[in-house]
Amino acid sequence: MNIEIIKTTTPKAKPDSSNLGFGKIFSDHMFIMDYTKGEGWKNARIVPFGRFEIHPASTVLHYGSEIFEGLKAYRRADGEVQLFRPIENIRRMNNSAERLCLPQIDEEMALEILETFVSCEKDWTPSAPGTSLYLRPFMFGNDESLGVHAVHNATFMIIASPVGSYYKEGINPVKIMIEAEDVRAVRGGTGYAKCGGNYAASNRAGERAEQKGYSQVLWLDGVERKYIEEVGAMNVMFKINGEIVTPALTGSILPGITRKSCIEVLKSEGYKVSERLLSIDELEEAMANGTLEEAWGCGTAAVVSPIGELSYKGKVFTVNNGEIGQITQHLYDTLTGIQWGKIEDSFGWTYPVK
Ligand SMILES: *Cc1c(COP(=O)(O)O)cnc(C)c1O
Repeated sequence: MNIEIIKTTTPKAKPDSSNLGFGKIFSDHMFIMDYTKGEGWKNARIVPFGRFEIHPASTVLHYGSEIFEGLKAYRRADGEVQLFRPIENIRRMNNSAERLCLPQIDEEMALEILETFVSCEKDWTPSAPGTSLYLRPFMFGNDESLGVHAVHNATFMIIASPVGSYYKEGINPVKIMIEAEDVRAVRGGTGYAKCGGNYAASNRAGERAEQKGYSQVLWLDGVERKYIEEVGAMNVMFKINGEIVTPALTGSILPGITRKSCIEVLKSEGYKVSERLLSIDELEEAMANGTLEEAWGCGTAAVVSPIGELSYKGKVFTVNNGEIGQITQHLYDTLTGIQWGKIEDSFGWTYPVK
C-alpha cells in the first residue's frame, strides 16, 4: 500500500528516560487514514504530530463510536526494536470495529501500517530498563452530521508515546475494592470490545475507589453482580488451592493479550489453568479460609499487577501477606523477558521492526 510520509521540519528533543510517566509525551509523527463507505480506506499518511481539525458534528463527539488498541515497541539490549504479538491487537481491533459498526482493516495492511509507523518513530523507543514506546492505534466514526446511523466515514490513527517503567520502585501489590454497585459492561453490550465508551462507564467507580484509598475496582458481571469479571482495565487471575483461575470470556470481558499469554505460558509449563465462571461467593470463601494464594491483574501497561488486598462490602482481606506471589512473579519475569529480548522467545511472539 502507499503511505505518504511528510517528515517534521522541527523534530523534538528526546525526553529524559528516567521521568517519562505514561502517555504524556508524544513522538514526532502520527499516522492517519480516512475511510468512506464504498471507497474503502484512503489517504494513508504519516504526518507531523499535532492537533487536527474535526467537524463539530462528528459522530465520535456525540455518539461515542470509538475503539482503540494498546501495544508497545520494546528496545532490546542489542539495540533492535520489537513488537509483542501485534497480529493479536489487529485482530482484536477488527472485532471491536465489528461490534461498533466501524470499518475493518485488512490484517496485512494493518501490520504494514504499524511496521512503517514504528520504523519511522523507532528512535523514540527508549532504552532504560522497563521503558518502551507505547503505541495507540484508534479509530472513530467521523460523519459530519447528527443523524444516528451506521458510520459512513471513519478515521484511523496511530500515535506513539515513550513510557516509563510501570514499576519504578519495585513491584508493589495494590489494594482493590470489589465494586458492588456500578458495572462496566453487560452481556450483549460492548465489554469484549476495546472501546472508549467502556472507560467512560467505568470512571465513577474508579474515582470512588480512589477516594477510599484503593487503586482499582474489581468488576462483577452486569446481570447478577455475582461473577468476577476484570480488575480496573486489566484482566484478573487467581490461584485458589493450587488451581489457577481466570474468568471465562463470556462476552462482557475484554480478551486481553497479556491474559492469553499468561495462560499459554502457564499451560506450556504444565500448570492447570481454568477459564471458568468464578463467583464472588467462591472468592470470598477462599479469602476467608485462606485458600486464595495469589491474585493479580494483567495487561499490556503493567504486564502483571499483584493484588495485596481485596475489600468487599466493608470486609478487608489480605492476599499472600500483601506480597507478590510466586506465580505472579514468574509470569512477570517470563513475559518481560520475552518482550525485552532477555530470554528466548520459544513461542514466536516477538516481531522485530527494521
Ligand atoms: C486493554 C484492556 C485489557 C488488557 O488487554 P491487553 O491486551 O492484555 O493489554 C483488559 N481489560 C480492559 C478493559 C482493557 O481495555
